Amino acid sequence: MPELPEVETTRRGIEPLVRGKRLLAVNVRDDRLRWPVVLPEDLPQQTLRSVSRRAKYLLLEFDRGTLLIHLGMSGNLRVLPAGTPYLKHDHVELVFAQTQALRLNDPRRFGCVLWHPRGAQPHWLLQSLGPEPFADAFDGVYLKRLARGRRTAVKTFLMDARVVVGVGNIYANEALFLAGVRPTVRASRVTLAAYQRIVLEIRGVLARAIDMGGTTLRDFVKQDGNPGYFKQSLNVYGRAGEPCRNCGASLTGIRLGQRATVYCKNCQKSQGFAQQPVLKS
Ligand SMILES: [Zn+2]
Repeated sequence: MPELPEVETTRRGIEPLVRGKRLLAVNVRDDRLRWPVVLPEDLPQQTLRSVSRRAKYLLLEFDRGTLLIHLGMSGNLRVLPAGTPYLKHDHVELVFAQTQALRLNDPRRFGCVLWHPRGAQPHWLLQSLGPEPFADAFDGVYLKRLARGRRTAVKTFLMDARVVVGVGNIYANEALFLAGVRPTVRASRVTLAAYQRIVLEIRGVLARAIDMGGTTLRDFVKQDGNPGYFKQSLNVYGRAGEPCRNCGASLTGIRLGQRATVYCKNCQKSQGFAQQPVLKS
């Protein structure tokens, strides 16, 4: 499933290819995505001003509004020469001047393409989202304040998009290992110092994933439908029962809020680890 780093990598990949270009045509080949694809008749002839991102939504800003695109469970966007033969599951195509076509391919059709007119209220899908993980507003003090009285596990708390966006299951597992905080601790019991550390580690794992995605940007202009998602070397996710890279103990795997959760019972304590794990490569 595309996570925040894949969406940001997609944004960086497509923006230089389509920004500033006039839209010539929109081809909706199958409108049955998560919500029906209904686009205004005057969308063609508008110019694409910018491609930004909020949480996992790509925001294509045109002259008279914004196209929100979500990749859902299985979607990807490719920029191709117009007229390139379609692949199965190429559902929506935007054809720009200078013969560039932006295509959404989504086999499971959980993605969406929605039009939001300029000047309207903020889109309902974006209204209740927490801060971006790289925003100044996201810091240890913010988390500590929001966690007051919360009995939920800290990992579940961090994965709540109303708290902060973009912390998917893999990144929550990895950040909590690096911060030395056990995923099952109640959010209200985590110290301010541990939250400050968690913020740094969340930013670190996301930034590394985005950097690695950057090496695959060329894939966005390839025609094989492979968006070039990357695999980050992981410390705990997917490694239950394997040795901790810090202390060698067998990693513990549990389900927490229905999500696979892996931690080291030595290195991850209630109040955060006093020392940063020294990882053996
Ligand atoms: Zn350990």
